[in-house]
Amino acid sequence: MTPVLGCIADDFTGATDLANMLVKGGLRTIQLLGVPRGDCRIPDVDAIVIALKSRTIEPEIAISQSLQSLEWLQKSGTQQFFFKYCSTFDSTDKGNIGPVTEALMKALDVDFTIACPAFPETGRTIFKGHLFVGDALLSDTHMNSHPLTPMTESNLVTVLSKQTTLNVGLVQHDKIEAGLETLRNSFDALKKTGVSIAITDSITDTHLYTLGQALADFKLITGGSGIAIGLPKNYQNANLVRLSKEASKLKPVTGLSLVLAGSCSDATLRQVAEFSKNNPSFKLDPVELDLRPSIIEEAIEWASLRMGQGPVLIYASAASHEVKSIQEKIGSEKAGSLIENAMGSIAKALVDSGVRRLVIAGGETAGAVAGALGISSLQIGEQIDPGVPGTITVDDPKIALALKSGNFGEVDFFQKALDTMP
Ligand code: ADP
Repeated sequence: MTPVLGCIADDFTGATDLANMLVKGGLRTIQLLGVPRGDCRIPDVDAIVIALKSRTIEPEIAISQSLQSLEWLQKSGTQQFFFKYCSTFDSTDKGNIGPVTEALMKALDVDFTIACPAFPETGRTIFKGHLFVGDALLSDTHMNSHPLTPMTESNLVTVLSKQTTLNVGLVQHDKIEAGLETLRNSFDALKKTGVSIAITDSITDTHLYTLGQALADFKLITGGSGIAIGLPKNYQNANLVRLSKEASKLKPVTGLSLVLAGSCSDATLRQVAEFSKNNPSFKLDPVELDLRPSIIEEAIEWASLRMGQGPVLIYASAASHEVKSIQEKIGSEKAGSLIENAMGSIAKALVDSGVRRLVIAGGETAGAVAGALGISSLQIGEQIDPGVPGTITVDDPKIALALKSGNFGEVDFFQKALDTMP
């Protein structure tokens, strides 16, 4: 069957989050890492999610990568396209949500689309065009001081208008609440006034389901992963796919187990402490690694001696005061790249020695390890914890992977991932 939905996500873990949502909706889904090569082959799936790292790069580069991805998706036969960004609308006045949306609309010859980052399940709602995180306006949360994309304005019509030459309008919740016909009429009314992108209110999942129905004929949809919950039904109603609870069922992978943690977020620190209680663990320190690169070989040997008896953990995670002191000594960039390179080399050597079940904590860390292992596509399986599914590599050797951004997952995530992954 030809895939029905082609998605372009502006970051790695956001792409996984969307893929997880589509699989839960019954679509067999694959995630590709980076702009796919022309000769990239994919298995029989219903949806494709391309994970870019385009959230904070220069708009021209983000546009170029997004258009190349779109072209590849069009060649693969997908009919509907989805530009996925963060549910907190992470962007600056320069972009990249506006410029990429505009470029995709032009390439697809589309004169109207929506922008809906709402994800009520995670507390992201939109009311009268204003984005809330829990009970607070977006601009009153920690997002107002984000180092790369500070969000100091909560009115999304205002935010998006600064990023695009197109007219941005608003569909309020009462129009969605009133049902499909009223919603469609609201879209038409906005179009007539020259609006090209509509921010859509959404306070509950019911709103997202109604919106999903109204989007059945849209060529391009933009939003967070929340808006994807209403889409799978459309494809079934149009006889394009058969939704299946089995979409998340993947063939089991057997082999040695390894956990790599390069995130220093609170959730990961707790997960490292918990997992270390019952499993051997090895700590990497960037300052020592800088002085003595042979620690990488020592870590590989340490793990090789123990992996036969059960899973092992190699981690660089450290509390914030420790990270601060390390960064003062060797600089944050150097510390980060030393750990990322070390994690990549360790993963490569241990996969060569038989590791087939791999859990990785940290968005950048996961990207670095996937790169070192030459992984370019993942089939998405069952959810482990919200936003994090188990996956397996499409190419050989088959490796079961759980890739989680630092702050995701319960305290027992590592063990749960090893138990839940295919
Ligand atoms: P998260 O998803 O929590 O942001 P990432 O893997 O994306 O995790 O980012 C964590 C960054 O911190 C990586 O670049 C990693 O190499 C770096 N890092 C890991 N451990 C340390 C440490 N002990 N000191 C300094 N930097 C570290």
